[in-house]
Amino acid sequence: MASASTTVDLRSDTVTQPTPAMRAAMMAAPLGDDVFASDPTANALQEKIASMLGFEAALFVPTGTQSNLCAILSHCGRGDEYIVGQMAHCYRWEGGGAAVFGSVQPQPLDHAPDGTIPLAQIEAAVKPDDAHFARTKMLALENTLGGKLLPFDYVQAATGLAKSKGLQRHLDGARLFNAAVAQAAQTGSDARIEGRRIAQCFDSVSVCFSKGLGAPIGSALCGSREFIARAHRIRKMAGGGMRQSGLLAAAASHALDHHIDRLADDHALAQRLADGISGIDGFIVEKPQTNIVFVDLEGPAKAKSAGLMAHLAEHGVLATGLYKLRFVTHLDVDAAGVDRAIETVRAYFKN
Ligand SMILES: *Cc1c(COP(=O)(O)O)cnc(C)c1O
Repeated sequence: MASASTTVDLRSDTVTQPTPAMRAAMMAAPLGDDVFASDPTANALQEKIASMLGFEAALFVPTGTQSNLCAILSHCGRGDEYIVGQMAHCYRWEGGGAAVFGSVQPQPLDHAPDGTIPLAQIEAAVKPDDAHFARTKMLALENTLGGKLLPFDYVQAATGLAKSKGLQRHLDGARLFNAAVAQAAQTGSDARIEGRRIAQCFDSVSVCFSKGLGAPIGSALCGSREFIARAHRIRKMAGGGMRQSGLLAAAASHALDHHIDRLADDHALAQRLADGISGIDGFIVEKPQTNIVFVDLEGPAKAKSAGLMAHLAEHGVLATGLYKLRFVTHLDVDAAGVDRAIETVRAYFKN
């Protein structure tokens, strides 16, 4: 087993350690008690992210899961439903929280290969006002979804359709800034401008600071003042009212100031990794659009794959393989680490 300091951890972009500058910002932050709304650093972060994304208000929460829960339960009540993708985090990966805590039913729909949910399917899933049906209240999209940037014209069309049907629109933008950086690379614009353009298609947006942005803990939910007041009550019920939360908000704020544009480095490293492992017999490598590389194994590679994760771990390379083989690049991996991951994967399949 390689020592911790030489481990190349590609399991997720959540594994990053706060940088020295981020730690310094945390230590210097003025603190109060946020349950009394008197933590100046938490308040400043909420104002900063709300104004960056063009919303009236924001709420700092411990996790993206709680952020989505607060959003769904603020938009929907008992007996309502929300339209959502089969692979969306706020449907598949959050323990069914909206159903458990809110009696809100999901209406999951299949994704097209590009991650979108076809408009005709969304339209067909909106139930008529009839006692047989749950009331369709909300559309939830996710961007990026599995590392894929949703095409902006799709985001506009889907949210436009939802609005025309009277639905609320929520974006799980855990990796919104990865989407923004990728979209900015296409348009030649600035990531902040693109992030805001995407966010403004929605009534509420959740953003994670603890993914690619590199903060240790925290997400923010953005929306109208009235929506955030409802979400604030739900956060309290969910146990997410934190006291000197400015300590964490300072890290998030530092990340917004310093870690957005550098996401382009993570995207380039993901491409380097994808290039390096494609060509292995039986490896179907999806071209990464942001910081996540997915690999489907077939034929010879699949037949040999049983010992792969253990081999990687033995050589200090960590990845995940729940549905597909997955590698995620982030602030704490560099080109040398990616090259080591490539060599380790290649060595396993060589003989
Ligand atoms: C990670 C993630 C979340 C949840 O964040 P946690 O902080 O782990 O609860 C929500 N949505 C998406 C798309 C994510 O990737």
